[in-house]
Amino acid sequence: MNIDSIKNGIVIDHITAKKGMEIYEALNLKNLDCSVAIITNAKSQKMGKKDIIKIDKEMDVDIDKIGFIEPNATINIVKDGKLQKKLKIDLPEKIVNLAKCQNPRCITSVERDLDQIFILTDKEKQIYRCKYCEMSLK
Ligand code: ZN
Repeated sequence: MNIDSIKNGIVIDHITAKKGMEIYEALNLKNLDCSVAIITNAKSQKMGKKDIIKIDKEMDVDIDKIGFIEPNATINIVKDGKLQKKLKIDLPEKIVNLAKCQNPRCITSVERDLDQIFILTDKEKQIYRCKYCEMSLK
């Protein structure tokens, strides 16, 4: 696979260096049957160093998952070798089952089949609070 030229697929760019693997795992990319390339410590004028993930396949990616790990990432959709669309990611307003509440008295610690839901309560400080007990996520 030529990592510079994806014909039809997705390039996740502007990932903070070393976080590429985290996104790779969160998106379960190892289960794909197409080529996936992770480039770590690529030079970036804006960020110094960054990671890039290239997926050689048209697919839907979970933007909330990526945004939770890396709100500054950009997603480039490539079609026929050309950049078709650029999506800016942001911190998701709500995350479901991406993190676990640490409060042992939270209802989610007792009722194990409840969804773990966190709401973004402070965008500036990137604070999420449990929907049930309001404990913040670190
Ligand atoms: Zn809770």
